Order: sequence, then structure tokens, then C-alpha cells
Amino acid sequence: MIALNSPIKPDLKKLTKLLEQINNNGWFTNFGPLHKELTARLEDYLGVKNLLLTNNGTSALQVAAKAIGTRSILATPFSFVATASAFKWQKDELAFADIDKQSLNLSPETIRLAYRKGCKADTLVATHVYGNPCDVNALDELSEKYNFQIIYDAAHAFGVNIAEKSVLNYGEASTLSFHATKIFHTVEGGAIIFKDRVNLEKAEEIINFGIRPGRGVVDVGINAKLNEYQAAVGLVNLEEIDNILEHRAELFHKYREGLKNIVELPQWHPQANANGAYMPILLKSEEEMKAVSDGLAEHNIQSRHYFEPSLDKIFVDSHNYGTRNSVSSSSRVLCLPMHAHLTSENVKKVINIMGKLL
Ligand SMILES: *Cc1c(COP(=O)(O)O)cnc(C)c1O
Repeated sequence: MIALNSPIKPDLKKLTKLLEQINNNGWFTNFGPLHKELTARLEDYLGVKNLLLTNNGTSALQVAAKAIGTRSILATPFSFVATASAFKWQKDELAFADIDKQSLNLSPETIRLAYRKGCKADTLVATHVYGNPCDVNALDELSEKYNFQIIYDAAHAFGVNIAEKSVLNYGEASTLSFHATKIFHTVEGGAIIFKDRVNLEKAEEIINFGIRPGRGVVDVGINAKLNEYQAAVGLVNLEEIDNILEHRAELFHKYREGLKNIVELPQWHPQANANGAYMPILLKSEEEMKAVSDGLAEHNIQSRHYFEPSLDKIFVDSHNYGTRNSVSSSSRVLCLPMHAHLTSENVKKVINIMGKLL
């Protein structure tokens, strides 16, 4: 079988060494030495400052929202449910704009229209969907014009740069997920990258019950800390990440080259590198998408219809500034197998069968 996804498996020898270190330290969680080391290594690897580890990517969004201060958001409807539910959970008002048909990312034009129609959202929540960066410069301009801040859900964008600059350096904050199914993982985990140091310091308190060392509780907090075991997995996996990113990008380009005349592919940001986080394709209709998915399954190839539904169909009481493109794309998008253990031969086989099916 060719699996849709397959998590990277940490080298057990290296991992055991670190677990022994944790036992020797007797320090299992609460900003321990491995936590500190992983933070520094990730900042260095990703080319960012002000990175805070969290226990997952959803809490990263929630804590970012609390630290920055959000009340009402305008979000992309084409993303994983957590992109919106993280804000809804803390009773933010929710509104949706539409995506661009080609990139599947929030369309600057629809954001402009939403604000012209009276949208009052103080925060834009944009996903770099499938690791394909948003039009960050256009969103920056709009954020100045309409006076909103931006949180990027960068759960798919580990290792993605725009003209050599990390996408994580845009917006007030960007969040990552280190779930086992993501490119880089700590089993469960995540991170927030803040533009401003003060927000990082606030968030550090928020993820630890609102406690400020030496001062007691100064804020309403939660427990969203990454523990030492998770940090150990992260440190081991990080050693492999260069090879993994290179391999996935190669597979991604092979797929795109082999499929470009057969099926519609999302348009990638022209200045960004691919990280091969996902391999999305767009079929002509929901029927064709289902037929292709079934056809692949007959050859023991997994595929997955996501993201669907368009999030405005889940959060039906939110304000909707028009989500036609998102509704259409989410009905006919399909992700093909993509993971670190996939081979070029696997990709060739999938392309071959796609050619026969279409
Ligand atoms: C995975 C994912 C999340 C949630 O991350 P968890 O670590 O699973 O909580 C949020 N947003 C997007 C776009 C994701 O893909």
C-alpha cells in the first residue's frame, strides 16, 4: 500500500540517550534544559526570533490570540478546523473572507471588500495552506490600511522561505504544529513565533497558568507547555530535517511535473521554496474527485479529500463575506501521498495511475 502519510520515526539510540539525560536531570517539564535547547535550535534553523514552544498547534493559536489580544477575527475558510475553532473557543467573533482560486490562500481582494462592507475584525487569521505562502506583502499593506493585525497559521509552512526570508517572520505572530503527521514533529507539539518580544514574554506566562516567576499569578492562563520527552523527540528529529525537507521537495516537484498536463494544480508563490508538506490537486468536480480517490484506492493508494468542508459550513452563525471559491475548491480538492518515507518510484506509480484514471 502507498500510504497518504507516515510520521518520521525518531532514531531510538539517540532518543534513549536523551531520555537517560532527562532521568539524570530529574527535570521532566516546565521549561527544562531540552526545552531550552530545542527552542534555540529551532530559532536558528528556521531563522526566527521570539519562538515559544507549546504543547500543540491549536494551543499555539489560542495563546497567540490571548497574548496579542483578539476580539473579532476575519479568517480563511479553507483550512483545518482548528484555524477557526481556536478563536471561537475563546468567544472571538468569527467572519470569513474568500480564497484565491489559484493559490487557495486568502485573497487580498476579498479582504478589502470585507472591510469596505464594514468588517470590524481586529485580526486577520491566514493559513499558508499546504505550505504555499500567502501574498504576505499585499496582506501587510491591507493591515496598515484597515488597521488589523495578522496571525498566520503556519502549521504547514515549516522551512518555507520567501526570497530567503522565513514566512514565519511575517505578521504579529505565526504558529506551527509539531503533530506527528506534520513535516517536523514532537509527537504532539507546536510553537508561536512573535514579532515582538513583549508578546512572547506574556505568552510564556499564559502557557504556565499565568504565573510570573517571583510574582505569582498575574494573568488568566492555561497549561500549554511542551515537556522534556517531547523536546527530546524534537531534538532527534531535527537532526534529520534537512534531508527530509530536501526529499519531500524533490517528490513534490516530480509530482507537479508529472501531473501538470493531467490535472489542475494550485499555483505556488513564485518566490517561495516548496517544503513538500502536502500534494494537493484540484479535480473538475466532486464526482471526479471521488472517482479518482476510489480509483487510487483500487490500486492500494491512499488519498484524502481535504480541507473540507469550507469552514463557513461548520461555523454557520459566523459572518460570511462570500466564500464561493472556498466552497468550490473544498468540494473537489484531493491530497495525494506525501511523506518522508515515500519513494520516487511510489510517485511515478501514482502519476501513472492518475494518467489512466483521467
Ligand atoms: C495541524 C493543524 C493545526 C493543529 O495543530 P495541532 O498540533 O494538531 O493542534 C492547526 N492548523 C492547521 C492548518 C493544521 O494543519
